Amino acid sequence: MSNAIGHVVIVGGGSAGWLTAAVIAAGHRSTSASGLRVTLLESPDVAPIGVGEGTWPSMRDTLRKIGVSETDFIRECDVSFKQGSRFDGWATGEAGDRYFHPFVLPQGYTETSLVEAWLKRHADVPFADLVSYQPRLCAQGRAPKQKATPEFAAVANYAYHLDAGKFGLFLRKHCIERLGVKHVLDNVIGVNSSDNGDIASLQTKLNGPLAGDLFVDCTGMQSLLLGKHFDVAFLSRKHVLFNDSALAVQVPYADENSSIASQTISTAQSSGWVWDIGLPTRRGVGHVYSSSHSSDAAAEIELRNYIEKSGGPREFPAPRKLSFEPGYREKFWHRNCVAIGLSAGFIEPLEASALALVELSAAMLSEAMPATRADMDLVSRRFNETFSYRWERAIDFLKLHYVLTRRTGSAFWRDNCLPESIPDRLRELLSLWRHHPPSRYDFSRIEEIFPSASYQYVLYGMGFRPERAMTTRRSDDADLAEQYFREAASLADKMLPALPSNRELIEHVKRNGLRRT
Ligand SMILES: Cc1cc2nc3c(=O)[nH]c(=O)nc-3n(C[C@H](O)[C@H](O)[C@H](O)COP(=O)(O)OP(=O)(O)OC[C@H]3O[C@@H](n4cnc5c(N)ncnc54)[C@H](O)[C@@H]3O)c2cc1C
Repeated sequence: MSNAIGHVVIVGGGSAGWLTAAVIAAGHRSTSASGLRVTLLESPDVAPIGVGEGTWPSMRDTLRKIGVSETDFIRECDVSFKQGSRFDGWATGEAGDRYFHPFVLPQGYTETSLVEAWLKRHADVPFADLVSYQPRLCAQGRAPKQKATPEFAAVANYAYHLDAGKFGLFLRKHCIERLGVKHVLDNVIGVNSSDNGDIASLQTKLNGPLAGDLFVDCTGMQSLLLGKHFDVAFLSRKHVLFNDSALAVQVPYADENSSIASQTISTAQSSGWVWDIGLPTRRGVGHVYSSSHSSDAAAEIELRNYIEKSGGPREFPAPRKLSFEPGYREKFWHRNCVAIGLSAGFIEPLEASALALVELSAAMLSEAMPATRADMDLVSRRFNETFSYRWERAIDFLKLHYVLTRRTGSAFWRDNCLPESIPDRLRELLSLWRHHPPSRYDFSRIEEIFPSASYQYVLYGMGFRPERAMTTRRSDDADLAEQYFREAASLADKMLPALPSNRELIEHVKRNGLRRT
């Protein structure tokens, strides 16, 4: 078969490039002579973006499948355990305004209607705190598993916070030493096309042309192959998600035994929000804001105030400024080129959707890898359709965090509620949700990036209250719901004394490691 796909060339050695290389090489036996060949080419002159420290629970499965040890990963990437996100000040901005988006489903989620019973009997308790045990674990800085729990297994569903720079190096080593990925350090300086318009080879500065059958563009925001070479259009979504700037900084803990937060803390500011991610050795803090609503100087003052108020130092190095256009490409796979990571698009880092999309893209590319060039157009059509859907859902979900705010003190929050800034599908869903809670029928694809439970946590956390039901359903069983509320509370009571703190578990992993399954 002359047009068989036997060699995949990935350009870019950031988190997207190395994750994609690992997923494909592990899935296609690149260490064996009959497997797919994978080459990763990265520039020695252009550093990876170096941010991206919050992940989604899917990362556990991704790492397990590529064959890394969770112990090594935790030790080498300055990892801590993440059990969800806490949103401070998003609904009203008043004292005590906060809600949780935990990673575990509500207790009894698929068995009965919890929302009706919550509103009827416990409306004064925050939704997540009533239906899930996880907010209490987070509030007390607990780890999501015990010291004896094996690698990747969980007592409470979890993801990770990690050092992005170390993560790239860790994946690189694993890909080269264990998965058979060929690594080339060089700059792409041009693209050589075939007669049919496909990419035939990449012109490199030192190594001449590098030929391949399929090219994966992981070149970050410059989108060298899909954007620059093929000129695939970029669809801006700045009219929906206004944030396009970030100031990022790393700050030390007060002392080396300070507790490590079990969740990402996202705190609303006048024209954006601050992320606060606790790693074992430092915190990563950044202000994401809209340049149309705030100057850089004003954003930096808010960032400094946040750091000082949250126990950080008064003095720290100048924050690093990053700018981005929120949006994504009209298509992600064109001819024999697929874009994954920032080259495909980026929207603000709320809820860690970027690395989750990288994982989903790499998984689909690997699973659906066309055997021949002739199969590629069909596979690419499906890929494009799937990922346009996923980007739109990610945008809807992030926008949901804004549209119900009652903050009126600044134009940023007022503008976020303007009907013309709300995507049609989200507007329709908000209208449906007046009468029934977000359900799996609203998000019916396999591998939805955010499940319906996540929409419930954010919707009710932001203060949305449905109208009273017009008729009663069999699932409106308040007594059964009550049992689940009690179950969530009793699970928290049992787990709290049995789980170590986030820091204790990390120290244990560093000293003794986790049991491999
Ligand atoms: C402020 C901010 C915060 C973020 N926070 C999160 C988060 O909490 N969670 C999350 O999931 N995501 C987050 N992200 C997104 C996340 O950082 C990225 O999705 C992730 O790092 C992947 O980046 P990348 O690999 O696509 O690009 P990059 O890291 O930019 O890598 C690009 C690669 O391309 C190579 N390259 C470029 N030009 C050439 C050339 N000519 N020849 C050869 N190689 C070349 C470079 O050498 C580099 O290796 C955040 C992003 C920003 C901006």
